[in-house]
Amino acid sequence: MTARRIDGTALSKTIRSEVAQRAAALTARGCKPGLAVVLVGEDPASQVYVRNKIKACQEHGLHSVFEKYDATLSEADLLARIDALNRDPAIHGILVQMPLPKHINPHRVIESISTTKDVDGYSTLSAGELMTGLPGFRPCTPYGCMKLIETTGVDLRGKHAVVIGRSNTVGKPMALLLLQANATVTVCHSATVNIAHHTRQADVIVAAVGRRNTVTADMVKPGAIVIDVGMNRNDEGKLCGDVDFAGVSQVAGHITPVPGGVGPMTITMLLVNTIESAERTAAATV
Ligand code: NAP
Repeated sequence: MTARRIDGTALSKTIRSEVAQRAAALTARGCKPGLAVVLVGEDPASQVYVRNKIKACQEHGLHSVFEKYDATLSEADLLARIDALNRDPAIHGILVQMPLPKHINPHRVIESISTTKDVDGYSTLSAGELMTGLPGFRPCTPYGCMKLIETTGVDLRGKHAVVIGRSNTVGKPMALLLLQANATVTVCHSATVNIAHHTRQADVIVAAVGRRNTVTADMVKPGAIVIDVGMNRNDEGKLCGDVDFAGVSQVAGHITPVPGGVGPMTITMLLVNTIESAERTAAATV
């Protein structure tokens, strides 16, 4: 079997053109959607991520504010900035780029973002909304993975999904979203004994570990959907995922590549969450 390649770049383009239309409609109603991106320090990877987020806003008709601070910024001053953004009516989403300098408590910062503007979906309240099935912001990467799975046309009801990785930002919310879609979900992690035993029974595998070749062809059931969240470098320094793409493509039914799979969807779902936030604000002010 040769797997169908799930094209995250193409799906992202389609969703982003809908985002641009929704942004234009909101702007015409006097409620231009706005995202604030806050960066503290000089982490090179964070600078690239932040630049891409701002660029995506600009290209799709969203207002964006970029606040960049020196690594010496105090936690109190950062919390004061977030408080101001919480009260700014032109801002519908606030994203604080992680990691923060060591002297700043990331939990305190995330919890300080108004739930109505928590477009990353990282706060305990947003996590609780996901857990209990209430409407709210879903963390962008797992939300994007669900959209990628949707393109396969496979109904997840009764399917067995295995998520490898249990981080608060990817693995756990991914498992909850799959559960909400009526899949039977197994979560594997670094203490799981014999991951292959689980993945071989899976109709859907989501790998979110950060280690090359975590999923190889012998671990995959023929026809399975394989979503690769991992971002690693191979020996040549090229970007690669957690899945052995060449090998697994021979067994799986559907597979996401790296790059061009989950990656583009993460920023796209950030735009979607920001638009949804602005639409809620606009609806509340009618
Ligand atoms: P993380 O916080 O480091 O979590 C990694 C998870 O993998 C942990 O739950 C860990 O288990 C588990 N793990 C580690 N080694 C393992 C092993 N040998 N077998 C099974 N499980 C193992 O990472 P993350 O933030 O969730 O991100 C995961 C990967 O996705 C990274 O490569 C990251 O760069 C990538 N990522 C990509 C995007 C994107 O937009 N494409 C977005 C976010 C993240 P324990 O909990 O037991 O330690």
